[in-house]
Formats: sequence, structure tokens, C-alpha cells
Amino acid sequence: MDRPAWAPEGVDMQQASPARMYDALLGGSHNFEIDRKAAEMGKSLVPDLPRLALSNRAFLRRAVRFLADSGIRQFLDIGSGIPTAGNVHEVVHAIDPDIRVLYADIDPVAVAHSRAILRGNSRAGAVEADLRKPAELLDKAAETGLIDFDQPVGLLLVAVLHLLADSDEPVAKVADLRAAVQPGSYVAISHLTSEMRPEDAGKLGANASDKNRIGIHFRNREGIVAMFEGWDLIEPGVVELPVWRPESERDLHEAPGRSLGLAGVGRKA
Ligand code: SAM
Repeated sequence: MDRPAWAPEGVDMQQASPARMYDALLGGSHNFEIDRKAAEMGKSLVPDLPRLALSNRAFLRRAVRFLADSGIRQFLDIGSGIPTAGNVHEVVHAIDPDIRVLYADIDPVAVAHSRAILRGNSRAGAVEADLRKPAELLDKAAETGLIDFDQPVGLLLVAVLHLLADSDEPVAKVADLRAAVQPGSYVAISHLTSEMRPEDAGKLGANASDKNRIGIHFRNREGIVAMFEGWDLIEPGVVELPVWRPESERDLHEAPGRSLGLAGVGRKA
């Protein structure tokens, strides 16, 4: 298969990536055959996976609007993924075109495509960075000039922390980020959970018996609530994706009681 123009040199086209597999689930076009196969395999095990992806995107948009309405004027979106409908900069610039947005992702395809769509936009940018190395990530963010760590920041950790293994210490990584931001900052987190549908989580999770190349770490409620340690939880707390401040019927992509994701927003006092 020829390398498409959007795929940077050095990207292994034989290895599925979470960013491209998620893009495939959302019906995007920045994915390889191996990603589409991984997405199809996931759907054969859990047919409503695309609804989960839509439910997660809907949470992201609601949380971002909530943060912008709460006065946040700069967003650091970590594990931002391949741009798709309703990106953070589009949502916030509809509220205030001066809001700054920095996308950070470990996946070169996600970063390259983000840069391509942001060309000429002085209020938004993208960096390649690893959440497992928060100090480096924060340095890169500061170097862009888009994020001023002397002012409150909206940190977005949406559908990314479940890609970190326990050995990557995800709770400690969130704590490192919290330590670096000013009071008045917020964090929005969504995370795959084994809480409501343990059987389906078992089929898709990193410990599934078939070789899972993506490595998704479903966690229980307690494990996800622990990530908000030190943040004041905003109402309604850590809840299923579709019931975090739904705005309309259209937000109910997944039936409450059946979601594979938990989500919440916290504020640093
Ligand atoms: N946040 C977007 C959303 O919720 O729609 C995209 C979520 S996508 C499922 C997860 C993203 O996290 C992927 O783009 C992947 O490349 C990125 N990612 C995985 N591990 C990461 C890490 N250690 N540091 C930064 N990004 C990472």
C-alpha cells in the first residue's frame, strides 16, 4: 500500500494505532487497513463501539463549552486525536475567537493532520508529546507560546488515560499536571470503564485472551475517581458519558446504565 500524503514518513503502516482506529470508528478517512481491521474486530466483539465513540465526542464538546462558559481562555487537549467533527478549537472559537487551544498527541498522524487544518490559525496549534512524560509535555506546551501557565488552563484528558497501563501511573501523571496549573484551572476526563458492562470490557481490554495490540485499560469507578484527587468535582461528579450534563436527546448516543465510559470535570481550588 502506498503511503498517503497525510501520513508522515516513519509511520508504521502495519501497526494499528489508537488514534487511527478511533478515527475509523468515527467514520474518518485518516486510517490504514490495519486500523480498520482493528476497529472491525472491536465491533464484532462489541457492536455498539461507534456509539461509544460518538458519546465520548459529545461529552468532550459539552465539557469544553462548560469550561469556556466558566471563563477558561486556554485549553491544552492531551491525547487530542485525529481532527474530526466538532474539534475543540471549533467549539470554543464559536464562543470566543480569542481562546487559545493547543493539541498534544503522541501519534504523528494526529499531529500532522491537526497542523494541516490549523495552518494560518494563530490561536491554535499542535505538538507531538507523551502524557507519560508530563514535564516534557508541559515544556513543549509553554514553548509554543499558546499556553500561559500563569493563567488558568482547561486540561482535557478525554479518552486517553485508559491507554496508559497501571505501570505508567496515570493517577500520578494527572497529579503532575495539576501541580503545574494555576488555581481556577479545570480538568475534563473521560475513561473506559468495566463498571457497567464487565463482560464487554473483558472482551476489549488489555488482558483479553486474544492478542490486543492497542492495550486498552478499562478501570472501575474507584480507579477513575482517583484521577480527580485534589480537584473539586463539578456536579454531577463522575458519571456515565451520556449523563454528564446532557443538553438534548442527541447527546444520548449510549443508553444510561449501559455506557462503557465514565466522565467528570474537576476544578483546582
Ligand atoms: N481526545 C480525543 C477524543 O476523545 O475524541 C481522541 C481520543 S483517542 C481514543 C486517544 C488519543 O490518545 C489517540 O490520538 C492517541 O494517539 C493518544 N495517546 C495515546 N497515548 C498517549 C500518550 N502517552 N500521550 C499522548 N497522547 C496519547
